[in-house]
Amino acid sequence: MNTANTILACDVGGTRIKLGLVRGTRLLRRDEIAAHPNEGLAAALIRIGRAARGLCRSAGVAAKTLAGFGLSFPGVIEPGSERILSTPAGKFDDAKRIDVPKLIRRLFGLPTVVCNDANAALAGEWRFGAARGSRSAVMMTLGTGIGASAVIDGVPLRGQHGQAGCLGGHLVANIDGRPCLCGNIGCAEAEASTWALPEQARSHPAFPSSRLAREKPIDYALVFRAAARGDAVAMELRDRAIRVWSGALVSLIHAYDPEVAVIGGGIMRSGEIILPRLRRHVARHAWTPWGKVKVKTAALGNDAGMLGVAWLVGARI
Ligand SMILES: [Zn+2]
Repeated sequence: MNTANTILACDVGGTRIKLGLVRGTRLLRRDEIAAHPNEGLAAALIRIGRAARGLCRSAGVAAKTLAGFGLSFPGVIEPGSERILSTPAGKFDDAKRIDVPKLIRRLFGLPTVVCNDANAALAGEWRFGAARGSRSAVMMTLGTGIGASAVIDGVPLRGQHGQAGCLGGHLVANIDGRPCLCGNIGCAEAEASTWALPEQARSHPAFPSSRLAREKPIDYALVFRAAARGDAVAMELRDRAIRVWSGALVSLIHAYDPEVAVIGGGIMRSGEIILPRLRRHVARHAWTPWGKVKVKTAALGNDAGMLGVAWLVGARI
């Protein structure tokens, strides 16, 4: 990889799209635009192009000197073709029908990598962040859903259809559990993620008397805040969620044999409470006769996906 190359990196989320110009390990300039997922990915790419031209101007980078385009997307990506096989429920529906890499090449005229968002985040953390220097690592991202990714023996894991490693949020945490958006029952993210939380909270018998009934939105930031003040429903939801994440992490460790496990995502703003408990659970329950997996907080925050997908582009060109 030529580290003088500038890559346009783009991280698509359900509500915001982050984009940035990346050179080597440096994010030269960043921007964010609204995702408008109902309008589809093709429409979003047009708006990304417009925002990217603005970024190039403000960074003093000639758009024609860009060396590649990296797109991090929350779906299953077919290896080889890099077509998008799945999209988040009801969002960017057109992405499954169009050849996204081909469309990007036509719109931008650049070598392109399309990558699952959890895989992009781990690529970033593995090359430049919390898992730097390791040969085998897993990442679990706690947010709207639960993302997961694995690097084994220095190779990012993808599998036959691109879903190896990245479905850690859909490891079963409760066989008698709640229906998941993926069609399975009792997935970790159906038991403890931001999309599943409001219904879980409201179905608690003591919900009407809880602080959670009086504040909005019902997310884990609120749950951790209310739990810290002694709200019984919030404490129960918090403690159960941490047990679900702990169990999922042990499953990831058993499946992928990492030396480092990186925990990221917006919910980790409460990491000072979550991380010690995850570590304790892993120390007690993970079967690792060789020693202990290092459990670390993600180091690159929101930029991990952009840095990671840019690295993947650079490794290919
Ligand atoms: Zn699921």
